[in-house]
Amino acid sequence: MKLVLYPNEILRQKTEEVEQIDGEIQTLIQEMYQVLEKEGGLGLAAPQVGRSQAIFIVQTEKEKYTFINPEIIEKEGTQYNYEGCLSLPGVQERVYRSYRVVIRALNEQGKPFTLDTQTNDLLAQVIQHEYDHIQGTLMIDHLDEVQKGRARVQLKRLTKLEKLSKKVSGKMKEIKRKPKKH
Ligand SMILES: [Zn+2]
Repeated sequence: MKLVLYPNEILRQKTEEVEQIDGEIQTLIQEMYQVLEKEGGLGLAAPQVGRSQAIFIVQTEKEKYTFINPEIIEKEGTQYNYEGCLSLPGVQERVYRSYRVVIRALNEQGKPFTLDTQTNDLLAQVIQHEYDHIQGTLMIDHLDEVQKGRARVQLKRLTKLEKLSKKVSGKMKEIKRKPKKH
């Protein structure tokens, strides 16, 4: 399972709700935890591994949560802290988020739960970042003009890289398709 990077268009799609939490979904979630651990982030949403489904995971030092079909039902206060995104390598900017959220979701067993982040502003921040992902929103959408200017250089770089990797994989297909000559 590979991490999806900007500007892949799946990151911009609104995800589908999960209708049935079966073995396939549980395997997907397990693989998402593996990717998150390998990449060293605090959260990961399904579109970031190429699946347009309303699932995200959060893993901090103390907490580990899986959110399926989540809904933020309460927001309170403001925080303005640095954020990064595994799909936007090299972009780090401060983003306005609510200080506290209450979120309702299903866990990986399909059991409904409600989580109140209370004074854990980092957990609230990560939840809002991942929740955005399943709506097709990215942290760069929250930046002011100065921040956008800074991020633009890096985004251009990522767009170039994607074009390059498409070219390479296209060429590989060409080589594979070549009939053998006898
Ligand atoms: Zn992200």
